Amino acid sequence: SGAGTVAVVTGANRGIGLEVVRRLAGRGGTVILGSRDLRRGEEAARGLDGVEPRELDVADAGSVQALADRVRAEHGGVDVLVNNAGIHYDTWQDAAHADLEVVAEAMQVNLLGAWRMVVAFEDLLRPGARVVNVSSGAGSFGETAGGGGVPAYSVSKAALDMLTVKLAADLRPRGVLVNAVCPGWVATDMGGAGGRPVADGAASVLYAVDLPADGPTGTFTRDGRPIPW
Ligand code: NDP
Repeated sequence: SGAGTVAVVTGANRGIGLEVVRRLAGRGGTVILGSRDLRRGEEAARGLDGVEPRELDVADAGSVQALADRVRAEHGGVDVLVNNAGIHYDTWQDAAHADLEVVAEAMQVNLLGAWRMVVAFEDLLRPGARVVNVSSGAGSFGETAGGGGVPAYSVSKAALDMLTVKLAADLRPRGVLVNAVCPGWVATDMGGAGGRPVADGAASVLYAVDLPADGPTGTFTRDGRPIPW
């Protein structure tokens, strides 16, 4: 990130995504603020220099491709892709009685949304580009156990972590770093009251943006420290 660079952040009209946009914009360069609802994206981007609000529904292949085409025409490449959009942390159920529509929606956004973005933007990623998949300790075998909770969300994030490993291997020859991060428990609409400030969540994400070009790829961290998969 910084002057002359192009960053794309999904689900960036509020919460951690918007804070990541603010931080990146403060460094110069162009930041594309992806928002399902363009009007909400425009409101979020107001007053932020270098921020371009763009309609982006990561669950919609046409929307993702349209943005990739526009970024190609207007900027020619991308240096940073933050797959931040996520849903259904707040949908409590137990796995044995799950509403599978909820599971499908979680997979559609949390896993396939990130995957779709990488497939569509792959040839736009410049050598040394960083891809950051915003995951969660809720998807970690090492951090969560037992039943109840948010199985749709947890399964989708565990799958996102595996996708991170696979993409990291595939994109390594091109010098693209692909890492998963957990922002920690953050006080957003999703996280609810009591979590840490959004600035801390964004910092946990930005660690993986700020890795050196020869830095690690295929990792899973919170606050820059490895956490169990
Ligand atoms: P919020 O619910 O505050 O924001 C989620 C964002 O994702 C919104 O901008 C929302 O847009 C967007 N979004 C949802 N569906 C889509 C879609 N189909 N296409 C594009 N954008 C979409 O969540 P947070 O900021 O808290 O979470 C950000 C990320 O961090 C998520 O991936 C989440 O799983 C992860 N995370 C959060 C934690 C927390 O404690 N907050 C803990 C661990 C991980 P809209 O406004 O249109 O709904």
